[in-house]
Amino acid sequence: MKDWNVLEKANLRALLETDQVDSVQDRLNIVDTFLDTEEHVTLEELFRLLKNKGYDYEPGFVRQCMNRMVELGFAQRKKFEDQPIRYEHRHLGRHHDHLICTKCGKIVEFSNDEMERLQVQIATSHGFQMLQHRMEIYGLCDECLAQRAPLMPLAIAKPGERVEVKEIITGVGGKSRLASMGLRIGDKVEVISNDGHGRLILGHDCSRLAMGRGMAQKILVALNTAPADAICKEE
Ligand SMILES: [Zn+2]
Ligand SMILES: [Zn+2]
Ligand SMILES: [Zn+2]
Repeated sequence: MKDWNVLEKANLRALLETDQVDSVQDRLNIVDTFLDTEEHVTLEELFRLLKNKGYDYEPGFVRQCMNRMVELGFAQRKKFEDQPIRYEHRHLGRHHDHLICTKCGKIVEFSNDEMERLQVQIATSHGFQMLQHRMEIYGLCDECLAQRAPLMPLAIAKPGERVEVKEIITGVGGKSRLASMGLRIGDKVEVISNDGHGRLILGHDCSRLAMGRGMAQKILVALNTAPADAICKEE
């Protein structure tokens, strides 16, 4: 990777010299800093990396320099949903795609020959000549997934536990049956009794409701650790 960077830098230096721009050394400092990171950097992150190396350039100068890098084919601009513009290396003859975590913004690169081949095949079958493509997979990264509270069926919640309704794994009929009980996704309920085989008694808002075990199997809940809101006042 380092050898490759040396070649890239020499290539770029030659191109910048034919550009007949001034402050070539300053431009090369920016280029070096960019080529030395393997991250997908925003302009702001690039300023920070430059500052760490003791360089303090005008934002406009850095932006102009990065734009030239894009034009010369050394960098590419990436805009992932909801994120600021990022720059990454453009390796000639090498291509990769991205997985983006919608929670923490982590970006993971991958390349898959089979998928590349399939994309060309799909384009061709529609009479398209594929010139470029973007494959971005959005989701939750392993770390964010691990932080997410696991879901469990309401049927196994213990008496005294307070839970939040997260998902209902049933058709429209089940949802409307639930709605007729006054329960919706996001509602918080307290398990008043659950003997493991009969109906469950739940506290919801200021009333108690009985729910059949079958229904309680289909409702996925997460433990609610927030303090109980004291909304039910004595009359
Ligand atoms: Zn691809
Ligand atoms: Zn994440
Ligand atoms: Zn990338």
